Amino acid sequence: MLDLVNQYQQINDEINAAMHKVLTSGLYVNGPAVRQFEVNIEEFLGAKHAIGVASGSDALLLSLHALGIGKGDKVIVPTFTFFATAGAVSRLGGVPVFVDIDRKTYNMDLAQVESILEKDRDKEIKAIIPVHLFGLPVDMKRVMDLADKYGIFVVEDACQAINANIYFNDDSNLHTGTGTKKAGTIGDAGCFSFFPSKNLGCFGDGGMIVSNHDELAENISILRVHGSKPKYYHSVVGYNSRLDTIQAAVLNVKLKYLQEWTEKRRNVAAIYNKAFQAAKLMDKVKCPEIEDGHVFHQYVIEVEKRNDLTAYLNEKGIGNAIYYPVPLHLQECFKELRYQKGELPKAENACQRVLALPIDPELSENSIEYIVDNIKQFILSS
Ligand SMILES: *Cc1c(COP(=O)(O)O)cnc(C)c1O
Repeated sequence: MLDLVNQYQQINDEINAAMHKVLTSGLYVNGPAVRQFEVNIEEFLGAKHAIGVASGSDALLLSLHALGIGKGDKVIVPTFTFFATAGAVSRLGGVPVFVDIDRKTYNMDLAQVESILEKDRDKEIKAIIPVHLFGLPVDMKRVMDLADKYGIFVVEDACQAINANIYFNDDSNLHTGTGTKKAGTIGDAGCFSFFPSKNLGCFGDGGMIVSNHDELAENISILRVHGSKPKYYHSVVGYNSRLDTIQAAVLNVKLKYLQEWTEKRRNVAAIYNKAFQAAKLMDKVKCPEIEDGHVFHQYVIEVEKRNDLTAYLNEKGIGNAIYYPVPLHLQECFKELRYQKGELPKAENACQRVLALPIDPELSENSIEYIVDNIKQFILSS
């Protein structure tokens, strides 16, 4: 799917030097590279505060915790996402409220969100987590309008969408600026993951929270170190959730290449679409639209006999993956919430049909054509 060793080898001198600097500094926890990376992210994304944490999952957990989400609080999440989006809500004693997806974008259906908020007369819903799935931003203008109207918090799950652009024509309900903003910088908090396979990945786990709110950012940074400030004085019970200094040093190097890698990913996606078109497969294969803001964390197609195609590609040694095979409302761990099969049908249908293809920024046109050729052969013979 992604050749991470090749990516390392392209920039290994710089990475090795950055890691060596940390190793010989003796400053292994919260060393200067961590704050440097936070500053770099603040500048890169245009956010007031950035707080490094141990993972994207922890970014969600600490954000919700700092916003006061706790026992019995309901939080709206899409059912078609990585588990951590809903897991963070449950780990705080909250209750995920699952919504279906827009069949074209795979992002949460905001009409359904609105109708759920309208019916929430007792104001049990405290927050919403829009997920910019596969790197395509959610319509954040509409999310912020709904959040303002119903008085709920917004935590953006931008784990798959670092560097994704969101374009605004008018900023009447967005408190800062016009034009283009980066995914993750619009809600009360935005969460990022540096898991190796993400668009900006380190060599282990890592995460980041961004926020434009001073008090929230301060509370998150206190939660990150056991709820202590000053050291050994605890106002709340917090976590040990720091971004490793070595990972931050690596990320400082890689961040310089993110724009170039993003453009290459978008280009790979466009070449796939052209190849599917040239192969006259457009009625058999549903391809994603190449939107400007999309950073293509994944390139996801839909086909009829998805499971058979997976087996076929595996046999040929062609990378592929299913994101995601089971929607969250039907996961065993949420069975007490009593969702039924068929209740969120669009996501359930997508889970049967989606297939992610290799999206390495360095993927050549020849490799893409080879992959599309094989998919064509499968479709013609099935
Ligand atoms: C990767 C991911 C996370 C969690 O990130 P980790 O760093 O693996 O904990 C959360 N949400 C989404 C949508 C993700 O893709």
